[in-house]
Amino acid sequence: ERQLTLRNFCIIAHIDHGKSTLADRFIQRAHIVDDREFHDQMLDTMDIERERGITIKSQTVNLPYEASDGTLYRFNLVDTPGHVDFSYEVSRAISACEGALLLVDATQGVEAQTLANMYMALEHNLEIIPVINKIDLPAADVEGVKEQIEHELGLPADEVVSISAKMGTGLDSLYEAIVGRIPPPSGDPKGPLKALVFDSHYDPYRGVVLYIRVFEGSVGRGDEMLLMSSGARYGVEEVGILRMRGLPVERLEAGDIGYLIAGVKTIRDVRVGDTITSAARPAAEAVPGFRAVKPVVYSSIFPVDSNDYEELGKALEKLVLNDASLVYEKTSSSALGFGYKCGFLGLLHLEVVQERLEREFGLSVVFTAPSVQYRVRLRNGEVVTIETPDEYPDPSRIEEVEEPYIKATIITPDEYVGPIMKLCMDKRGVQTSMIYLDSKRVELIYEMPLAEVLFDFYDKLKSISRGYASFDYEILGLRPTDVVKLDILVNGKPVDALSQLVFRGSAAVRARAICRKLKDEIPRHQFKIPIQGAVGSQIIARETIPALRKDVTAKCYGGDITRKRKLLERQKEGKKRMKMIGEVEVPQRAFLAALKAG
Ligand code: GDP
Ligand code: MG
Repeated sequence: ERQLTLRNFCIIAHIDHGKSTLADRFIQRAHIVDDREFHDQMLDTMDIERERGITIKSQTVNLPYEASDGTLYRFNLVDTPGHVDFSYEVSRAISACEGALLLVDATQGVEAQTLANMYMALEHNLEIIPVINKIDLPAADVEGVKEQIEHELGLPADEVVSISAKMGTGLDSLYEAIVGRIPPPSGDPKGPLKALVFDSHYDPYRGVVLYIRVFEGSVGRGDEMLLMSSGARYGVEEVGILRMRGLPVERLEAGDIGYLIAGVKTIRDVRVGDTITSAARPAAEAVPGFRAVKPVVYSSIFPVDSNDYEELGKALEKLVLNDASLVYEKTSSSALGFGYKCGFLGLLHLEVVQERLEREFGLSVVFTAPSVQYRVRLRNGEVVTIETPDEYPDPSRIEEVEEPYIKATIITPDEYVGPIMKLCMDKRGVQTSMIYLDSKRVELIYEMPLAEVLFDFYDKLKSISRGYASFDYEILGLRPTDVVKLDILVNGKPVDALSQLVFRGSAAVRARAICRKLKDEIPRHQFKIPIQGAVGSQIIARETIPALRKDVTAKCYGGDITRKRKLLERQKEGKKRMKMIGEVEVPQRAFLAALKAG
């Protein structure tokens, strides 16, 4: 039977443990890409992924594999991201697979996301193959890491496969383990169609492309399909497997992972997590979808040029197809005009959205201060949920405010425990446990406000531990807090896009940091510009940008006209990235920079 030679698995691991590198080796061995076309991190196809050296999107690739006994297998390999902001990508990949390769770096050992990812795979009953990677490095401690895998992950040490993804060593035993241990998919190819949409993207030529895992039945060109949640019907135009580009096939059957194109025009009909069935013979029930994503941080996006508002809406609609974790709704601001309030899974996610809007859609946008979700109980008994500073009620009406808390798990070599504890305390963290995992590695558990870890916690943790400490978190719930609304005034005008909700005890420090940052980022004008931080009517921080009379063409001595024009053009180009706040030109990047100041 066809299914028996099929293996669907994902590669999961902490960031940088070598997932994408291992995927490269698989791709090379399968000879599905010309040597000329091959390059490292083949599946990291987005520019941002290449530049940052991290995976943001899960990617699937279909690979033929001939075993030593001559059997021809087909693998569907899903490479996943490791950063905590993108764990929703991992969870969707997991639901399309029967197995997971859990990579552990031989020099780093088990880290915070190793655990988080393993639990996710276990929840979905995946067969987990523990893999120790980077055994070529002199600092590799294969035996020690094996012990960690057994004690900390509860996976038998004798099931561990040791490899070097970079050198390609140990791959044969890995292939054997995949074929031997990961079960082939089950599901009746003759049953009524049941396929899970686990991802999608917008292709300018083909429209909406759906990535599906077929669980029951089969689907092919010409079939009439039904999207179970919206009830929308479409004629299937093409199905295929994923060989770096789409490779059309006749039909996808139970067990297969592939793509489907059906001329879906109204993007609203499609939702990642939805089930596709056959219109003629519908399945009785849908595949269990995904846990709904809950944004942890909110920020509003405004076009730098107000005329781009409509375009921004269209761009978001398309972006959401490829990023199911992004949520948005319309909003407006007195300083910035019309825009969209968005929910993100973290600040890195927010940055990625900003970059994608700019690169993939050519838009220049401004983001307002990221905020967590607060719950406010008013004196009149009413309870309101607040996601942006402008929604914050007048303080005199407030009875109590609650903010989200997280449980943070930090794993670190013991020499960094002191500075990490100090950092967590500065971030209002309360330690709930500290255990030695082995003679050198410590696991610290803290409860702390989500708002405190959103900003620079991760970077600070990495820098004080020379990159060795790892961090993961889960949301605990809401707890009482004391917040104030911090307003920023530029040239005497409050800029609503720069307002933020902050812990009362941190307001002054934060206000000063933002004012300093804005002073650096806003160019001098022909008049003096005061920048102030205020809580209510009280000014708590102040900087001043001195006046400057600047004539860019002056240095041309009035002579060379083309040079003069070039200079003016360059200045005009620069203006496109400026947002007018009253009389003051504020560079687009100043907004995000100010918000990250701390
Ligand atoms: P990912 O975040 O898990 O996808 O990790 P990458 O595949 O991007 O790899 C992170 C870094 O580790 C890159 O610099 C790789 O070249 C390196 N790397 C991956 N596998 C190995 C290995 O087996 N040996 C060595 N020495 N380096 C490796
Ligand atoms: Mg990667």
